[in-house]
Amino acid sequence: MIGTTEILFAVNRQSSSMSRQSTIGNRKSSILAERVTHSPEETVRFGREIAVHLQPPCLVLLEGDLGAGKTTLVKGIVAGLGAASEDEVTSPSFTLVHEYGSAGRVYHADLYRIEGTRDLATLGLEDISSQAATVLVEWGEKLGDNAPLPCVKIRMEHRGSDDRRILIERVEA
Ligand code: ADP
Ligand code: MG
Repeated sequence: MIGTTEILFAVNRQSSSMSRQSTIGNRKSSILAERVTHSPEETVRFGREIAVHLQPPCLVLLEGDLGAGKTTLVKGIVAGLGAASEDEVTSPSFTLVHEYGSAGRVYHADLYRIEGTRDLATLGLEDISSQAATVLVEWGEKLGDNAPLPCVKIRMEHRGSDDRRILIERVEA
């Protein structure tokens, strides 16, 4: 998992730094980093920075509207993990899950088309712990309370033109 101080150090270099405690549902969460990017390239670079701090098994839930930049950020994370090149990462909105790297180390799911909620088991991803896998889920809120924890939640917001606000939280078990 991401160590709070590590990611604050690495991810927050050029943004407001904080470690506020709050709750998501009944789970404790702490904000690890916040950044506003101004281009898709900058978002990809930020994804690469985030990747350095992800220790598998790790579940990364990405939230934000269509066009918020979730897939763009995933390109950087997957490339940063060394599992595939940025160009190989595309939205799995029809297939639901893409697998990158050898031996299924990195999975990328997109639950946009799912009605209601789904859990990792129905995506074939229930066994992430034993695989030491990293699972990146767009529309992660649709995993509902079925998400095994600990995990990282990334919220992305369109801030007009090419500005995107990216907030990273760690959600405790
Ligand atoms: P999502 O997966 O959230 O629907 P995508 O990553 O597929 O979003 O699309 C984001 C779109 O916004 C892309 O067309 C990208 O080029 C554009 N864009 C513009 N500025 C940014 C930025 N700062 N970060 C990410 N994407 C951006
Ligand atoms: Mg997407």
